[in-house]
Amino acid sequence: MKTQNSEDFSFVDPDPGPGPYDAFRFCPRCGGEYLSIHEQRAIRCGRCGFLFFFNTCTAVGGFVFHQNQLILCVRAKDPGKGKLDLPGGFVDFDETVEDALRREIAEELNVEAINYRYLSSAPNDYLYGGVLYKITDLFFVCDAPQIDTLRAADDVADFRLVSPYDVRPEEFAFNSTRQALVKLRTWLDRT
Ligand SMILES: [Zn+2]
Repeated sequence: MKTQNSEDFSFVDPDPGPGPYDAFRFCPRCGGEYLSIHEQRAIRCGRCGFLFFFNTCTAVGGFVFHQNQLILCVRAKDPGKGKLDLPGGFVDFDETVEDALRREIAEELNVEAINYRYLSSAPNDYLYGGVLYKITDLFFVCDAPQIDTLRAADDVADFRLVSPYDVRPEEFAFNSTRQALVKLRTWLDRT
């Protein structure tokens, strides 16, 4: 909704945009239609009192080095089809972040990565199937000493081996990954 500011006649948009709760019209417990948004992160049913919080999903991405080259993925699917991404994905239930990253790198690039070092984190929005997921992305640096078996698989169309200084942040599909690349360069310059 657009409104006009009476003081300077500039237009502002007070709508904070869609939230995860916008995907729901009825109470999942009683089917009631009197849903309200609670503290911008939950739905509350006015009929049965059901309260459901939309917590952040945990996702992990790896800057995988082979010698001085980064192994980057080209996304096969939307969002961000054709753009660069890090190997990684969502952390499964009852899985550690490190195990999730190890699994995703094996699934997407068919290589084993070792020596995981935490780099940074960033919030991310992920719109899938009309539902907005609020994500916490965690970024790690790791090494793949052997890449004889390297191939793109799963939701990865292709891979690229590049110097971290030869790739532009805007080539990545997601803002959080662009920020992480800048952090990576700072981290590399210090070590
Ligand atoms: Zn209800």
